[in-house]
Amino acid sequence: MSAIDDLPPLRDVINTFELRARKSLGQNFLLDLNLTSRIARIAGDLSQTDVIEVGPGPGGLTRGLLAEGARKVLAIEKDARCLPALAQIARAYPGRLEVIEGDALKIDPLAHLTPPIAICANLPYNVGTELLVRWLTPKDWPPFWSSLTLMFQKEVAERIVAEPGSKAYGRLAILSQWRTEPRIALHLPPEAFTPAPKVSSAVVHFTALPEPRFPADPAVLERVVAKAFNQRRKMLRAALKGLVPDVEDHLLAAGIAPTERAERVPLEQFCALARSIAGA
Ligand code: SAM
Repeated sequence: MSAIDDLPPLRDVINTFELRARKSLGQNFLLDLNLTSRIARIAGDLSQTDVIEVGPGPGGLTRGLLAEGARKVLAIEKDARCLPALAQIARAYPGRLEVIEGDALKIDPLAHLTPPIAICANLPYNVGTELLVRWLTPKDWPPFWSSLTLMFQKEVAERIVAEPGSKAYGRLAILSQWRTEPRIALHLPPEAFTPAPKVSSAVVHFTALPEPRFPADPAVLERVVAKAFNQRRKMLRAALKGLVPDVEDHLLAAGIAPTERAERVPLEQFCALARSIAGA
C-alpha cells in the first residue's frame, strides 16, 4: 500500500489509541488509504471547498480528504476515544482540520465553515439515512451544501437511485431525485471494512440541483410520499385515505388514477399531488 501521508498506518493508529470497534456506534472502519483517497476523489475537486465529515472514527477518510486537497475539513465524531488519533492528523495538516466531539444529529456545523461546502461520510447506516433526509428536505433550496458523498448499505443506495416501477422505488428515490442528481459511484464488498459488516456497501454521490425538478412544498411532499409508500401494495385512494378530505379529487387533479399504486407513480406526478393538496 503506498503512503498518502507521513502519518502511521491506520492499523497502528488503532492499536496505539486502542480503538476497538464498537457495534453500538456502528463502527466499521476503512483502513485502506488508497480506498479512502478514491472515495475523496468521488467528491470532486475540493481545493476551494470546505468539507463536513460526519463520523471520522480513526480518520481514514479524513486523511483521504486532506491528502486529496480539501481546503478545510470539519469532522464531527461522537466517540471521544477517536480524538487523539484525529488530533495527530490535525497536526500533520496545520489549519485544515477542525474536530468537533458530539452527535452529528444535534450539531449545526455551519458557523464554522465558508461556502462552497461538501459533505462526505462513512456513517452508521441508520444515522446516515436520517441525516440524508434532513439534508434533502430543508424548506428553501438550494441548500447550504453543493454535494454529498455518502456510504450506504447497498440496498439503500439502490433505493436512492431507483426508477418508478421497481421494487426499490419509494420515499428515498423521490426525495433524492427531486432536488439532486444521485449516482452510485462505487461498490464495496464487506471485506473493505474492519470489522467486516454482514452486508455490501456503496458510495452515492449527490449533486444539488440549482432548483427542484418540479415545484412542491417539501413538508407536504414528504408527508404524501411517506403515506403513499407506507402501504405500497394498496391502491393510492386507499393508501392515502385520511391524509386530506377528497383525496381522490387531488389524485385526479394530479393526473393520477385513484386505482394506481405508489410504486408506479413518477416524481412529477407526486409533486403535482403535493401541490394540489397544499393548495386545498
Ligand atoms: N469514517 C470512518 C471510516 O471510514 O473508517 C469511520 C466509519 S464508522 C462506519 C462510523 C463512525 O461514525 C464511527 O467513528 C462512529 O463513532 C461515528 N458516529 C456514529 N454515530 C455518530 C453520530 N450520531 N454523530 C457523529 N459520529 C457518529
